[in-house]
Amino acid sequence: MYSMSRYAPSANVSELRESATIAVSTRAKALRAAGRPVIDLGAGEPDFPTPSCVMDAAHSALDAGHTRYTQVEGIAPLREVIAKRASAFRGSTVDPAEVVVSTGTKQALFNACFSLFGAGDEVLVPTPGWTSYYQMLALARATPIAVTGRRDRQLKVTPDDLIRAATPRTRGVMLNSPCNPTGAVYSRDELSAIVALAAERGWWIVSDEIYRAISYDGPAETLLALADDRGGPRVVVVDGLAKTFAMTGWRIGWSIAPRPLAASMAALQSHTTSNATTLSQHAALAALTMPEAERASQSMVAEFKLRRDRALAELKSAGIEVLEPAGAFYLFIRVGDVSSADPDPGTRFAHRLLEELEVAVVPGAAFGTPEWIRLSYAAPIEDVLEGVRRVVRARIS
Ligand code: PMP
Repeated sequence: MYSMSRYAPSANVSELRESATIAVSTRAKALRAAGRPVIDLGAGEPDFPTPSCVMDAAHSALDAGHTRYTQVEGIAPLREVIAKRASAFRGSTVDPAEVVVSTGTKQALFNACFSLFGAGDEVLVPTPGWTSYYQMLALARATPIAVTGRRDRQLKVTPDDLIRAATPRTRGVMLNSPCNPTGAVYSRDELSAIVALAAERGWWIVSDEIYRAISYDGPAETLLALADDRGGPRVVVVDGLAKTFAMTGWRIGWSIAPRPLAASMAALQSHTTSNATTLSQHAALAALTMPEAERASQSMVAEFKLRRDRALAELKSAGIEVLEPAGAFYLFIRVGDVSSADPDPGTRFAHRLLEELEVAVVPGAAFGTPEWIRLSYAAPIEDVLEGVRRVVRARIS
């Protein structure tokens, strides 16, 4: 009889690793369940409720019987609203046919990577970078190439950094501004320079803009504003509701891509998951159109800014090396030097912090940079400040 113990992973997944960010929160939850008062600063989701007008819209959609399949790409009014908002940035009309609504930004990113890249292709990934980029590219059988910028530039990459890592097999670049895990935000000039390089080399840019609304020095730039649709750079912009509107569990994201690529991604999605959850699509429509949702989002961002300022001040006054984040809700903290005796100081530090001082953070190795840890301030301010104090204690002990 076939036994599960004989399961051998296929070549598709044999290299795949569990998401390190999820692994940390699983361990933190297990410790909590065992009665330990763990402060969880590992989370990648806002600690705020979904705006109530969005909940109301979901209730109404249910009452109206919106429980069936929709078009694979998403309901027309939602794609129209996304296209309209995008048009305002691009300066030329975005057609709803360029928009594919997906089950979270994660699926939009996977659709893009899988449709654009394949065996033999190399894709430049500014590193530290969100943990799933590397795995998604590997699932597409492409090779992620980590590119790290200088510390005095908040680890952001420049065209020169990318050129040094490029080969004739390079096909694309993943961009993420504001960045998870560093919170770094690329300026318009920095992005323009990368867009110009990509255009010159014929590379695709996949721009993950999920944190764009969580930006503390004015709105972060979108690649829509830099890439036009007249034979210019090849750009896919992905975004979603999870962070902006505290809607992680609703699983709504989308891509905006040139039509043939959008059609390809929709075909891929038609054979894997079909439409994003119908009810969530109606909730998404409310989030993107109701002023109340926008106000809730803005007050959440104001609270994140307050936490960032206070936590940053504590770390700096203790002399800890930390990147000054201009967006997202993470602090990226340097906790050691890599050496042959200590190849992964971040993981060692995070482990000790959790087991001895009961604070959960994510080791930088999850993002390709083992000298760092990521601390999320998407948690009540008392927890964030207490967590930061324990980091300081662990760092200097
Ligand atoms: N991109 C980045 C950079 C993220 O941090 C996350 C969530 N952690 C995602 C994409 C995935 O978002 P979603 O929940 O919309 O799938």
